[in-house]
Amino acid sequence: GGGSGFPTIVYASRTHSQLRQVIKELKRCSYRPKMVVLGSREQLCVNAEVNSLRGKALTNACQFLCKKRGKRQCNHFNGVPEFLKQNPHIGDEPVDIEDLVNIGKDSGPCPYYITRELHKDVDILFAPYNYLISNAYRKFLNINWIDSILIFDEAHNLESLCADSASIDLPSVLLSACISEAQECVQLAAARRGSLNDGSMNPENFAILKGLLLKLQELISKVPIPKRDEGFTKPG
Ligand code: SF4
Repeated sequence: GGGSGFPTIVYASRTHSQLRQVIKELKRCSYRPKMVVLGSREQLCVNAEVNSLRGKALTNACQFLCKKRGKRQCNHFNGVPEFLKQNPHIGDEPVDIEDLVNIGKDSGPCPYYITRELHKDVDILFAPYNYLISNAYRKFLNINWIDSILIFDEAHNLESLCADSASIDLPSVLLSACISEAQECVQLAAARRGSLNDGSMNPENFAILKGLLLKLQELISKVPIPKRDEGFTKPG
C-alpha cells in the first residue's frame, strides 16, 4: 500500500472503540505504517449546521452542500484538496477519529473527505466491519483487493453481521398491502384500457406481480419458525 510496493493491510473490527484501542497501541509502538481510519459522517462531519443530523438525513444534507454542479457550499469540503497538498505526511503518525475531527474543527478541512481520499494511499486501513460487508460502503473503497491482507478482529461476529447485512425486514402487513395494491392496479389498468383506449399499462403485468407476491406470501408462511422469539436463518 501507499506506493510502498507492500500489500495494503485492512484491519476490520466490529466497533469503533475496538479500533480506537488498536490505534492506541499503534501509537505506542515504533512501527509507523501510513494509516487512516474510516468513519461515518456522523462521526466525522464538522459542519455545525448539519452535523447534528443523523444517518441518511446527514448524508443527504452533505451531498446537497457538496453537489458537483453549482457552488459547493461546505467550506470544510472545499478545504480538503489544499490540506492534502500541504500535508502529504498525514497518516504517517497514527490518527484516530478524534484527531481527524480536531483537524477539521473550526474552519479546517472536512475529516470525512480527508479519509476518503487518504485511504487510497495507505499501508494500513482501519475500518468497522460494515465498510467491508455492506455493498453501499464498499463501492467507494479504492483498494486493490487482490494484493491486500484482510484482518477481521473477533471474526466470530462476522457470520451474524453478514446475515444482517443481507437481510431485510418484510412485515406481513406490508406484504398484504402490496398484494391489495397490485390488485387495485389490475382493476385500474383494465378500466383505463377500456375507457381511454390507453394500452400503456397492461393489467396482465400487474396480475403477474400480484401472483408473485401471493407466491412469496405462501412460501414465507411455510417456513417453520421453531420458537416465538427466535429468528430463523435458511442457507442462501
Ligand atoms: S463535506 Fe464534510 S463537513 Fe461538510 S457537510 Fe459533508 S461531511 Fe460535513
